[in-house]
Amino acid sequence: MPIATTNPATGQVLKSYDAMSDEQVDAAIERADLAFQQLRGTTIAQRGRWLVAAADRLEAERDETARLMTTEMGKTYAAAKAEVTKCATACRFYAAHAPEMLADEPADAEAVTARRAFVRYQPIGPVLAVMPWNFPLWQVMRFAAPALMAGNTGLLKHASNVPQTALYLEDLFRRAGFGEGAFSTLLVGSEAVDRILSDPRVRAATLTGSERAGRSIAQIAGRELKKTVLELGGSDPFVVMPSADLDRAAEVATTARCQNNGQSCIAAKRFIVHTDVFDAFAERFAANMAALRVGDPMDERTDVGPLASAGGRDEVHAQVQDAVDHGATVLCGGELPAGEGWFYPPTVVTDLTPQMRMWSEEVFGPVAGLYRVSSYDEAIEVANGTSFGLGSNAWTTDPAEQERFATDLDAGNVFINGMTTSYPELPFGGVKNSGYGRELSAIGMREFCNTKTVWVG
Ligand code: NDP
Repeated sequence: MPIATTNPATGQVLKSYDAMSDEQVDAAIERADLAFQQLRGTTIAQRGRWLVAAADRLEAERDETARLMTTEMGKTYAAAKAEVTKCATACRFYAAHAPEMLADEPADAEAVTARRAFVRYQPIGPVLAVMPWNFPLWQVMRFAAPALMAGNTGLLKHASNVPQTALYLEDLFRRAGFGEGAFSTLLVGSEAVDRILSDPRVRAATLTGSERAGRSIAQIAGRELKKTVLELGGSDPFVVMPSADLDRAAEVATTARCQNNGQSCIAAKRFIVHTDVFDAFAERFAANMAALRVGDPMDERTDVGPLASAGGRDEVHAQVQDAVDHGATVLCGGELPAGEGWFYPPTVVTDLTPQMRMWSEEVFGPVAGLYRVSSYDEAIEVANGTSFGLGSNAWTTDPAEQERFATDLDAGNVFINGMTTSYPELPFGGVKNSGYGRELSAIGMREFCNTKTVWVG
């Protein structure tokens, strides 16, 4: 894949980069290692001041950074601005809360026959971050902010279609005060990852991306005995039960499916609706989806911009076509639009069966699958019936049912009467083929720490 900015709204290549040579990559790893020796000796308070400086810059540079993201991967300008703001909020959150997250944790000394016993959290070194294009700033920030606060350094191998956003991130942390090499962007293709992760100076890796990339990185990391955190795909269920507020559920369903032009790992993708309210929900949901305005992502009236790549759009349309060929019904959308740019209309497909690709695969575009179920148990069976387990949503006002969904949904996140999203305050990650490990919160920060037991007799 070429390392280049290609505007998905027009298909025009705007800027191309040569991949870095092995020598350049080695020099960057060396800088990351040297920077780690320095950063680990700084105080949490100092690192917090640098992170707050990064937040200040993000806020000051919000509009141009957002424009860059929209140009590179097609999200609406409004969504891009919100993403920049979210990143600044996360920087401030970790700057404020890292002291308590990284504080020594006393243990019961008497029980372990010590005078003193405690757990100390220490950084482990340069961490490789392999990141995707869909939230090109946020996906990186949710790794970088806690990692830098903990005293680790970062090596970013970003997706090949967002090189300018990747370079902006390196520049941001440098200007914020983190020293040379504390956070570096490696402009390389995915074939370079094996060599980088095999370098003894690189201590761990985090990946957000496809299952295929996850398996590849886990294999290398297994061989090299290195820690990994993997956040892979999802096909999140969105269950609607008879007691739900249907208007609200249909409204949130529309946003949950089409946010980021339908390209989010935690987008709701399978809408599993109790038969008592199926028709009423389907009518409202399809009407909402059909009413979304598709077009120029820079236009503030646009709800859904283009998909990020021609290949991504082909794949989405092939999945819809496959369902139609096997007897599915399209309630809205489903037609490939003419003209330039990689646009795809919000689409609702129902009468799905396990023979169809959409039943078990993730659809990375604004396409919703609608399933009719006749009981709670059947809803759980369909919801848990894929290889994924990232986010999930359930809509019910019955407290007993809420409790059951919280336990029975096989996912890393369960959101009841609301849309799945990520917060710096809450751990984020999946189970099954959606990956392992957690990002965000104290739990995410400690994934790349040496959790050291200290016993003093
Ligand atoms: P990829 O997994 O291919 O890309 C994500 C990142 O991984 C990129 O930096 C990519 O680099 C890198 N990468 C790809 N293959 C390998 C590999 N074998 N070893 C090491 N690194 C690798 O995702 P795509 O963009 O191709 O999207 C395909 C699917 O992935 C989507 O349909 C969706 O299912 C899932 N996805 C999930 C995301 C999420 O948020 N969980 C985000 C994006 C995609 P390069 O760009 O150079 O190929």
